[in-house]
Amino acid sequence: MELKDYSSGLNPTWCKGCGDFSVLRSLQTAVARLEIARENLAVVSGIGCSGRISGYMNAYSFHSVHGRSLPVAQGIKLSNSKLSVIAAGGDGDGFAIGTSHTIHAIRRNIDMTYIVMNNQVYGLTKGHVSPVSHQGFQTKMTPNGSVDMPIEPGMLALGAGISFYAQGFSAYQEELIEMIMQAIQHPGFSLVQVFSPCVTYNKVNTYQWFRDKLQRAEDLREGSISDHMTAADILTKSKGLCTGIIIQNKNKPSYHTLHNEKDESLVSQQPGISEKEFHQLTKAYMV
Ligand code: SF4
Repeated sequence: MELKDYSSGLNPTWCKGCGDFSVLRSLQTAVARLEIARENLAVVSGIGCSGRISGYMNAYSFHSVHGRSLPVAQGIKLSNSKLSVIAAGGDGDGFAIGTSHTIHAIRRNIDMTYIVMNNQVYGLTKGHVSPVSHQGFQTKMTPNGSVDMPIEPGMLALGAGISFYAQGFSAYQEELIEMIMQAIQHPGFSLVQVFSPCVTYNKVNTYQWFRDKLQRAEDLREGSISDHMTAADILTKSKGLCTGIIIQNKNKPSYHTLHNEKDESLVSQQPGISEKEFHQLTKAYMV
């Protein structure tokens, strides 16, 4: 499979220079390199400029509603665990209206990947502040500047017990492709936050702004890649402005692992009942 095989053929309507182009191309390249057949791939998006990404992928795709890509994506994975499931959306989707879904998906650790294109502004509504806009950030809609403190997505993810968290930048495409591949291969819930500049409504957090500020997570690491305190230290030292894999803990059991183990342990507690009978019994309770 080649990159072009994963393109729906629709021309993206994103503004010229939007960081989301790079995210789309990185995702297509990652799934092509991993040789994931289109019939085994599902891409679910939320609402916002970034939400259009599902329509540009040639795979099973679903453009859901605002902040609800994760419930749909998790449902797909639970229905067919053989699928590679990707949810994608923006910072409003993941860290405002969909925050609770993000937290619980992290906690649940279903084996899927969530890509958040963070441009620190609501582009589709023509420049509202988002939950990750810096304090004082001015737009036409907020001429006096945002008064709220921004959410730190990495700390939020760590607090919820994330097993894989990475940060990429649209301009560092090869690094982004590699981290999306690793995220997809991670046996649990993986979150990739991408600094994806909005060239139309965010004149502060530009490509150059990120190039000047971003550090490499690897250069800041003083401990194991699976350690939460080490990951928090990386985010603290860089004020969240770094790229790379921040944490990967392959030992946290995924949702499917836990449930299979749970089923087996319950079966073993039911002497005289076969596994088939046990599942018939539990199904009856689940109606
Ligand atoms: Fe991208 Fe911003 Fe244009 Fe939306 S408004 S397509 S986020 S550049």
